[in-house]
Amino acid sequence: MKKILVLMLSLISLCYQVEAQSYNILIKGGHVIDPKNNIDDVMDIAIKDGKIAQVAKNIDIKQAAQVVNAKGLYVTPGLIDIHSHNFYGTKPDHQYENGNLALPPDGFTFRNGVTTVVDAGSSGWRTFPAFKAQTIDLSQTRVFAFINIVGEGMRGGYEQNLNDMDSKMSALIARKYKKYIVGFKVAHYEGHEWAPVDRAVEAGRLAGDIPVMVDFGGSTPPLPIEELFMKHLRPGDIFTHCFGQLKSREYIVDLQTQKVKPFVWEARKRGIIFDVGYGGISFAYSQAIPAIKEGFFPNSISTDMHTGSMNDSMKDMLTTMSKFLAMGMDLKSVIRASTLNPAIEIKHEELGNLSVGTEADVAILNVREGKFGLFDYTGYKLEASKKLECELTIRAGKIVYDLNGIVEPLEIPRSSASR
Ligand SMILES: [Zn+2]
Repeated sequence: MKKILVLMLSLISLCYQVEAQSYNILIKGGHVIDPKNNIDDVMDIAIKDGKIAQVAKNIDIKQAAQVVNAKGLYVTPGLIDIHSHNFYGTKPDHQYENGNLALPPDGFTFRNGVTTVVDAGSSGWRTFPAFKAQTIDLSQTRVFAFINIVGEGMRGGYEQNLNDMDSKMSALIARKYKKYIVGFKVAHYEGHEWAPVDRAVEAGRLAGDIPVMVDFGGSTPPLPIEELFMKHLRPGDIFTHCFGQLKSREYIVDLQTQKVKPFVWEARKRGIIFDVGYGGISFAYSQAIPAIKEGFFPNSISTDMHTGSMNDSMKDMLTTMSKFLAMGMDLKSVIRASTLNPAIEIKHEELGNLSVGTEADVAILNVREGKFGLFDYTGYKLEASKKLECELTIRAGKIVYDLNGIVEPLEIPRSSASR
């Protein structure tokens, strides 16, 4: 009887092994940081049919067709950048809406470990279908959108048009394209009315309680952000450019006391989300350093990538994340703010983690040691000894970027448009 049992057990285990021998990719020996699953340890990750198949201490390399040598590297969920401008096009003077200030996502994402971007209001309810056809449908990067409360989107001067801010139409389109639209955006309004914010929040309610991202406007004198946080936004709504320090906007750190204003802490308790949205001039160390010192970490780190930020102090997602490391935020918190937190903020909790069964979006990062200068647009520079670099990116189980050829056998990532 005992012999039969042993035989049965070994048969079961043999079947299991045969079944498990078909991993497509095994990431071997990397330090996995997966905040959702509380993993901060050297682990192996196996990928099969585009999904995470196993996360374990030691997975046999014989079980996989390709092995990525991740020794000495960090393995994280694919990064999520929730403030980006990707509605690129050729219309003269249309700026970020089908214009020349926006960028195609794939050129800037995978080399930074980013697998998901959220376009922050470049399109509105009138123009979203064009954005979807031109960008979302043609990108390998997963692209979502906050649609602008302005029907046209971020078409320069059009953003001041109160008559084109329609909660109902915005919500209708958001419901129709639920798979792609994750919320609404308010940006750049210079008037003194609260209507743009209130209408966006109303759209958020009508569309089934999805968030609003606010790039607060340029009213002179500036509208009070305490009122914005406490009276107009809902818990879960997002204040982007949270470390900006512009004359036209109230900022979160009191320059006299060098402390985060008390009501900002209250707003955080209330559930207001603080997002970096670095951009061209929307991040200043004079705000971020005192805040980080006090333990006021951003909920999410994002780039505000566009032609006006791509080559200046911002550069890319990993440079932005490296600045937070340099200011004293620990690596685990930096990764959390670039994976799990943004996924929760946009209500896509299936993303931003490495749970078994989820789509395999993975970033493999190197923390380079050396001498680095990390400066902001004001010219203030931090000397840093560490900088994040992307070694390899996997999107939906496919290697889409490999800096040094660390996969065996080597396969050259090619986009569908390669020729
Ligand atoms: Zn922006």
